[in-house]
Amino acid sequence: MDLIDRIDHWGRVSPDLVAHRSGDRVLTYGELLARSDTLAAWLDAELGESRAPVAVHGHKEPEMLVAFLGVVKSGRPYVPIDLSIPAQRVERIVQTAGAALTLTPARIASLPAIPSPHRAIVQSPDRPFYILFTSGSTGEPKGVVITRANLEHFVAWMLAEQRFAAPGETFLNQAPFSFDLSVMDLFASLVTGGTLFSITKDHVANLKALYAAFHASALTTWVSTPSFAQMCLIERTFAQPMLPHLRRFLFCGETLAPETASQLLDRFPEAEVWNTYGPTEATVATTSVRITREVLAKWSPLPVGAAMPGTRVVILGENGERVSDGERGEIVIAGPNVSPGYLGRDDLTAKAFFDLDGVRAYRTGDWGRERAGQIFFEGRRDSQVKVNGYRIELGDLEANLRALPEIADAVVLPVEKHGRIDALAAVVVLAVEKTGSDFAFTAQLKTRLGERLPAYMIPRKFLYVDAFPMTANGKADRRKLGEMLG
Ligand code: AMP
Repeated sequence: MDLIDRIDHWGRVSPDLVAHRSGDRVLTYGELLARSDTLAAWLDAELGESRAPVAVHGHKEPEMLVAFLGVVKSGRPYVPIDLSIPAQRVERIVQTAGAALTLTPARIASLPAIPSPHRAIVQSPDRPFYILFTSGSTGEPKGVVITRANLEHFVAWMLAEQRFAAPGETFLNQAPFSFDLSVMDLFASLVTGGTLFSITKDHVANLKALYAAFHASALTTWVSTPSFAQMCLIERTFAQPMLPHLRRFLFCGETLAPETASQLLDRFPEAEVWNTYGPTEATVATTSVRITREVLAKWSPLPVGAAMPGTRVVILGENGERVSDGERGEIVIAGPNVSPGYLGRDDLTAKAFFDLDGVRAYRTGDWGRERAGQIFFEGRRDSQVKVNGYRIELGDLEANLRALPEIADAVVLPVEKHGRIDALAAVVVLAVEKTGSDFAFTAQLKTRLGERLPAYMIPRKFLYVDAFPMTANGKADRRKLGEMLG
């Protein structure tokens, strides 16, 4: 049985089982099966022979799940786009993806709810399953193609390692569907007949409502960025009595601080804490380690773990040679979870992907080392950063700042607090006279930038200079600019 058959299975044997909860909306496996079949048949009628991707634009509505499955059942890949992404960028993503059409929850809800028996197209495992757009250094988002084989390899590993109860687990869905962290909870849940419990942007805007929702959630498996758990830990009552059924925390996407892991172990004595690591280009996560008291006593910073079976993680030196144990190099992932590359960008694909001993491999751009069978992450080789778990190319931001007519040149720098990136700051050379106060002018620039970029990418701080200090080789001196920011 392939992934889709395994999900459909729950709709046949337990149609009333809840597949998804979001706010006060509930979707059962029976509804998911019938509605995704209907959608697949409708897409076939609408799009004919074209196998072009279908964009799915929404937030955490149950229709998003209907759309993902319906599109895949029709033999096409889906492109998830969250509502937090502004219209201009959505447009560029839809164009770059060559999407045949864009589905929204409203459009899906308006389809007739008649059962329509649909035979899923037998798809080659090497065909794209989803295409996920992530920040690109030139200002254009790049589309990572993930095949069914990539996804199946990842899901098989998750299920083997975590031994989720089937059915009966409730999974936290924190990340919007346009971030690959959400793939971890979405498919682990659907394949095992679990309930996906989505928190929405309204929950995050009202933390009281979030904790009340947790209390009523019966969550068993937590999937989030470490930043999100850190935010929850500020609330004193965020502990086992709030989530009595919680058995595991699964983290990915950014550094898990030992203090965060330690507090979670204190407050949730019945839950395991796992650190997992990997880029979107290698399907969500590739390494994992359970963070026990022993691991905490032994390592600081924490390791990101060992590779999933069937995939190799190697540390390569400047000339592509294997470095010896304990030495620093670039983390390279080789295995069946590695993407075929970026959609329509053979240039970028050729730079980052290659063949390692006959296996598809990806250069992560992450510094790391291996020690005692554990991989340690040690920062980036380039100017990609993570802010609250969000992946941002500083070049993407700088290109979008420069595209504003008010700005002649811009450099963006990370601002660190307690050893982690807390926010971004833009140092700007203006092309126009500044009007009004710095505060009002900055607010205006942020609004304009917000028309091009999602809110999480907008720098918190702006500093205006007449010219950048230069390095000896004529580049903006980022170190000096950092000092100017204070
Ligand atoms: P994304 O494609 O958004 O998942 O981002 C992938 C990048 O996030 C990796 O290349 C790392 O730089 C960082 N990352 C992912 N997982 C971890 C982790 N467990 N610890 C530290 N950094 C991580």
